[in-house]
Amino acid sequence: MGLFQAISNWQTERYQRHVSRMQALDKCPDCRGRGFINVLSFDYAMPYECPGCNGSGSYSDWENSRD
Ligand SMILES: [Zn+2]
Repeated sequence: MGLFQAISNWQTERYQRHVSRMQALDKCPDCRGRGFINVLSFDYAMPYECPGCNGSGSYSDWENSRD
């Protein structure tokens, strides 16, 4: 297993842990339940409706929007 593969496995594992933690809290993993994500644009952060949950911030909406 190469270094890149090892890093990529570690990131996947970390992401899956994050998803299951958010599932327990019923929060969207993409925006952590806030309903929006900050998109860095030039020197300020612009709130942008989360595409994962369509702004609801709930885990079930995030899960339904996947496939
Ligand atoms: Zn979201």
